[in-house]
Amino acid sequence: MSLDLKSLVRTIPDYPKKGILFRDITTLIEHPEGFRESIERIASQYRGQGFTHVAGIEARGFIFGAGVAIAMGVGFVPVRKRGKLPGTTIGQNYVLEYGVDTIEIHADVLSNVHKVLLVDDLIATGGTALAAVGLMRRTGAVCDDAAFVIDLPDIGGAAKLEAEGVKVTSLMAFE
Ligand code: IMP
Repeated sequence: MSLDLKSLVRTIPDYPKKGILFRDITTLIEHPEGFRESIERIASQYRGQGFTHVAGIEARGFIFGAGVAIAMGVGFVPVRKRGKLPGTTIGQNYVLEYGVDTIEIHADVLSNVHKVLLVDDLIATGGTALAAVGLMRRTGAVCDDAAFVIDLPDIGGAAKLEAEGVKVTSLMAFE
């Protein structure tokens, strides 16, 4: 367990628009040891603490979240964009740079007997993760932990989550 995971993340300038440095995890997950070690490093921080589920945020949070759920031996909850889940859902709006979006989970998947770890590839402003935590908590489930592959600390999302009582871990940071 000594790979330099950060060196496996590719940075693409001006995507999705000019001035943005996009941190691309596809190069990390196509590296077999890099992918496996990312999953294991996250899972090893949370085993034995009573988690019942991992929730992953569409779409890149599915890739890491599903792996972490398997590695922890717990179930996986997909947090999806509006309109994608077939059953009855509950949703949470959140503000994007331009406009508002909605994430949803199935209404019957979580309750007050559950403890959920939120997983996503990257935290920037924290808006997406905060909405997801709010959604989990509305079900009565405990959602006090969130794990990210990448943190952008200068943007301050992790601090926002911590202020809401969510403990945050990440495998790497880009300043
Ligand atoms: P936030 O809501 O501002 O924290 O943005 C985080 C969400 O946007 C996550 O679901 C990420 O997948 C996505 N995201 C934002 N910037 C990047 C990036 O540079 N690389 C990959 N995903 C990103």
